[in-house]
Amino acid sequence: MLAIDSFGNIWPCNRWDSHFDETWTRWKLGNIYEGFIEENQDYFLGTNKIEERCEDCIAKITCTGGCHASNLDTTGEMARIHERTCQLFRIDTKVAIALHDELYAEKCPVFMQNYYPEEWKNNNEEKTNEPANHVPAKN
Ligand code: SF4
Repeated sequence: MLAIDSFGNIWPCNRWDSHFDETWTRWKLGNIYEGFIEENQDYFLGTNKIEERCEDCIAKITCTGGCHASNLDTTGEMARIHERTCQLFRIDTKVAIALHDELYAEKCPVFMQNYYPEEWKNNNEEKTNEPANHVPAKN
């Protein structure tokens, strides 16, 4: 995501527009009239915030080391997540997985239609293909 302020400055996201100190302004990505600042652009394109401790983390796909702006806000470094944020990501992910498993096990219709549409469709096609008033044949 990018944000462009009324002066044409390009920022990594909208959270940069309310910060005016060097900690934040040094990450300006450019200006629509002057072009991109390649050094800063390259940093964002090439940044890999995942630390070694994250390799086996249950939340690494959703967390990816945290939001750049949140990290800068809470730790003063874009590539360093706050411990509480890290903890929250892990708790949130465990709750989300448990919720997923529960909804899948009970085949919740809304959940299945949204997240497993093919499976939902196949199961319901099978049901609609069954004869509606099937009466077993008598001997
Ligand atoms: S939750 Fe913490 S340990 Fe897991 S990927 Fe994010 S920063 Fe790394």
